[in-house]
Amino acid sequence: MNLLVPKNLRFECQRCARCCGDTSHRSRNLLLTKSEVEEIAERTGLSPLSFATPIPSKGPYQYKMKKRAGKCVFLEGKSCRIYDIRPLVCRFYPFSVCKKENRYVFNFAEDCPGIGLGEVLPEDTFEELISEAQFKLKTS
Ligand code: SF4
Ligand code: SF4
Repeated sequence: MNLLVPKNLRFECQRCARCCGDTSHRSRNLLLTKSEVEEIAERTGLSPLSFATPIPSKGPYQYKMKKRAGKCVFLEGKSCRIYDIRPLVCRFYPFSVCKKENRYVFNFAEDCPGIGLGEVLPEDTFEELISEAQFKLKTS
């Protein structure tokens, strides 16, 4: 896999839930694919429009998660109520990726409190994220 990834980057999630909503300096856009919305609706028994808003298609995404007081509707304290089926954008955070020519170029959110803590991430962490995204987007 042709990847350009941050070198010697330490990261350990602090479970602060800052990525589950807006902060004073940025609004968090929690994009969802149609199949993610369907899966969440099926597992929670909620109607899709109670937690997701349709948006003009943005790549594979057709919805965005609703927020309450700037936080994802599934956030309870600092816990995610749908953790095992949380969307891809949540699984990726604090990383983002874009494709430039044949290369996946990774970036990271510098304001994530887990950046710079813990062990240096091995390169296969990023390969696993790409594989997970490819699998999820293929089945969506
Ligand atoms: S990914 Fe970063 S912002 Fe999100 S919970 Fe973990 S430490 Fe906090
Ligand atoms: S789905 Fe879960 S992990 Fe994703 S933003 Fe909402 S509460 Fe956070």
